[in-house]
Amino acid sequence: ESTIQQIAAGEVIERPSSIVKELIENSIDAGSDNIIIEIQDGGKSYIRVTDNGEGMNKEDIELAFKRHSTSKLQTVEDIYNVLSLGFRGEALASISSVSDVEVLSKTKNSDIGIQAFVKNGHVVESNSIGCPKGTTIIVRNIFYNLPVRQKFLKSSNIESNHISEIINKLALGNSKVSFKFIKDGNIILKTPQNNTLLNTIYSVLGKDYHKNLIPINYLVNDLKISGFISNNNLYRANRNHQYLYINGRYISNLNLSKIIEKQYKSLIPLNRLPVFILNIELSPNEVDINIHPTKQEVKFVNSEYIYNNITNIIREKLMPSVV
Ligand code: ADP
Ligand code: MG
Repeated sequence: ESTIQQIAAGEVIERPSSIVKELIENSIDAGSDNIIIEIQDGGKSYIRVTDNGEGMNKEDIELAFKRHSTSKLQTVEDIYNVLSLGFRGEALASISSVSDVEVLSKTKNSDIGIQAFVKNGHVVESNSIGCPKGTTIIVRNIFYNLPVRQKFLKSSNIESNHISEIINKLALGNSKVSFKFIKDGNIILKTPQNNTLLNTIYSVLGKDYHKNLIPINYLVNDLKISGFISNNNLYRANRNHQYLYINGRYISNLNLSKIIEKQYKSLIPLNRLPVFILNIELSPNEVDINIHPTKQEVKFVNSEYIYNNITNIIREKLMPSVV
């Protein structure tokens, strides 16, 4: 059985924001520190992601759109040690099977860039073109060949909110990277390069978070937990401003959220929830990120250990602010 067959395939593309997520993650994996996202109609008619990463040549592009083609994983065992955001090699193949894709790319070593049009995993046209180092991917007409899926897309407003949320998550997890989000011609978000997490939080969540965030900087053995938690003046009606990362990768883990929330029980009003932006760093083989194709739900190998440490840190940090 080949590596390829052992990797569970899954539906990656649910809506325009899924495409935006995959494209940005690829840009980050390609070493970019400047990523521009432009959308029209909530991404339903047009998505463009431009980066200044390592770029691709003609062969790279042809390979990149083949299913299960990844440059980031050599063996199945690597899945458990994976640090790059992508590793399944299905995103670009899936995107090109449900939409029209145009790629512009140039590597550091080539004098001229390449423009390629891709359909269903195949490059149908390519030209030499002048462009800066990096990659631009343009996705048009999502689900043009799947009218039922297209029909189930929501309004442009709702779809662009989903996109906004994905960009926020990725921006908060990658403060060193500059993100610019342009929606129907208007700049919605811009974060500077080499930003601090705190400044990125201000750019993404708002200046009013100033003074209500408690810094976390915790290190025990091979476990590092860093970021910010809200004090007892900052809370929300939902979990929208709870951001959890493992080794820089955005995750969702309801258990972890509840464990953190429990520490706030006596501090904030009933039915209100704390805000936090936390990155948990630990050895990749302590994490099982492979349980779901969209890679957001995460299980820990030793969850008890993580949960206990989180509880202790939050309790320790919150108690002084109660007085
Ligand atoms: P994965 O990210 O899991 O490897 P993808 O289908 O998302 O799979 O991408 C396939 C391959 O295309 C990547 O492994 C990478 O080599 C290349 N690639 C995709 N996007 C970019 C980019 N923005 N810059 C450089 N290379 C890219
Ligand atoms: Mg990818």
